[in-house]
Amino acid sequence: MAAETKAEAKATNAPDRMDIRNLKTRNIGPVILLGPPGAGKGTQAKRVSAITGFPHIASGDIFRAIQREDTPLAHKVRSFYDRGEFVPDELTISLVLARLEEPDAKRGFLLDGFPRTLVQAAALDNALTEEGRKVDVTLYVTAPTEMLVDRIASRIICPNCGAIYNAATNPPRLDNICDKCGHALERRSDEEAETVRTRLEAFNRQTEPLVQYYRERGTLVQIDGTLPMEHVEDLVDRALGLGSRR
Ligand SMILES: [Zn+2]
Repeated sequence: MAAETKAEAKATNAPDRMDIRNLKTRNIGPVILLGPPGAGKGTQAKRVSAITGFPHIASGDIFRAIQREDTPLAHKVRSFYDRGEFVPDELTISLVLARLEEPDAKRGFLLDGFPRTLVQAAALDNALTEEGRKVDVTLYVTAPTEMLVDRIASRIICPNCGAIYNAATNPPRLDNICDKCGHALERRSDEEAETVRTRLEAFNRQTEPLVQYYRERGTLVQIDGTLPMEHVEDLVDRALGLGSRR
């Protein structure tokens, strides 16, 4: 980051469209990303990770990586996935906290998909407190459910490496083959729209207590994921004290 950008960030006042009144620090370390699938939080995480050097730690990636192993832990995690269940709090917490102990996460990190429950949020807070740290910013990227159903219905995810394509806006180079790992891609069928809708509603119900939790702690920054990409990026950068590029 250029020195000029840092100075700019310091001079930047809170913009009207974002609730950052309660943020106590511009010295950002641990960051949590909340928001339904399809609202753009993953895209922002990758971009911010590139700017800050903070690792983008997605619980889904951790679980996917473990399932490729041939260990008792892998079989255990796979059994929850096979039943369509979430991995239980205790196991999820131990796996994610272990990842946060790695050296690249010491300066800061972007957590995605964790915490998913209040139990997980409390465990994260306890672990960070022990290290004299805390969650600095919780980015909550939102969008209306119907818009997300449309977006997700045209999305293609590689079942092997987790790479994300979009049939309309970002197709793989070869039809139904992952660019990154060569694995066969499965297109979602249209009848899944209803499943997606149900899943989003469940997600919203589950996320609401977390939104409340972080709002009470003064770290929540809600961002409208339906705004033009450039605007979303600008709001995210300001929330994280990265300064505005305009
Ligand atoms: Zn792949």
